[in-house]
Amino acid sequence: MDHRGPEFADLGKGVLSGMKRIFKSTKGEVVIYPASGTGAWEAALVNSLSPGDRVLMAETGHFATLWQKMAAKLGLEVEFLPTDWRHGADPDAIEKRLRADPGKRVKAVCVVHNETSTGVTSRIGDVRRAIDAAGHPALYMVDTISSLASIDYRHDEWDVDVTVAGSQKGLMLPPGLSFNCISPKALAASRSARLPRSYWAWDEMIANGKTGYFPYTPATNLLYGLRESLTMLLDEEGLDAVFARHQRHAEATRRAVRAWGLEVLALDPREYSASLTAVLVPAGHDADHVRKIILEAFDMSLGTGLGKLASKVFRIGHLGDFNDLALMGTLAGVEMGLTLARVPVKREGVRAAMEYLSDCAKAPARRAA
Ligand code: PLP
Repeated sequence: MDHRGPEFADLGKGVLSGMKRIFKSTKGEVVIYPASGTGAWEAALVNSLSPGDRVLMAETGHFATLWQKMAAKLGLEVEFLPTDWRHGADPDAIEKRLRADPGKRVKAVCVVHNETSTGVTSRIGDVRRAIDAAGHPALYMVDTISSLASIDYRHDEWDVDVTVAGSQKGLMLPPGLSFNCISPKALAASRSARLPRSYWAWDEMIANGKTGYFPYTPATNLLYGLRESLTMLLDEEGLDAVFARHQRHAEATRRAVRAWGLEVLALDPREYSASLTAVLVPAGHDADHVRKIILEAFDMSLGTGLGKLASKVFRIGHLGDFNDLALMGTLAGVEMGLTLARVPVKREGVRAAMEYLSDCAKAPARRAA
């Protein structure tokens, strides 16, 4: 398809308006980049900030660390609020830090909603309330790369200024598209922001998007895929049902982990991720050895431990186009693999998950009767 031709405008306008619905009918602007999530991280920073601006970032795990490194490379002055990688961003610590900034030098607060390296979901609404309680005008930027369209997320209600997202997780697409959802406040900030930008510049993207076009060649094939994902998420299943399905699979997975006698990395039940679960292997065992055995024996690839969690955890993804039986297959592979790797576990995880899922299936059947 000619991306300057009339047919393309329908596709472009359709996916942009569908993405606004994914961001909970946002009144903000959405731009779509032909790039991985890292590009959308950079776009968020370079469009709204100036060299030497101070940004407050929460060290929730490996991906927050990469975003922080990028901000430093771009010439921003980063303050990195630590966590133990088993908890999300701490709203109290953010409020305290912002209260101690009477000169309002902090220009942005950046949080990863769902830390893909840890399976911990930060409380984005609580962080918003913390910023407001401190009476601080900083922009609020949130990475939803592994939460958008899997875990409830409210760009406008939580007054987020820039949301960063990617195609390859909840949107069920190959990698290669990424997104910024932009508030009027962030757009206003971009008019005086001085970090250099060209490819990532919002103004041309937004101006072209009004008519369904892009300033440069878009990833047309992925946009066809996105159109289909949006139909599946918004019209066929419905976002609330999608979120409930992810929660159900996450709960079933945690029950399996506990029945094996292992530990979920996330410590605070309010912060359990619905899109993935990181599992700690007992001391003396290597999580990557378990992953290797499972890959070789069952052709199933689990997420590796990243950064300081290397060899300590493996990660079970339960997001996207996924159903009860796919989860049961996944957990069966993990249970068999743990046994083959001689990790001391009780072979009761699959049964625990199965009982939970069949109880969940009985409940709607009872309601229907
Ligand atoms: N942020 C999070 C939470 C991620 O999970 C990822 C990748 O998995 C990224 C950022 C980086 O995105 P990408 O690898 O698509 O550039």
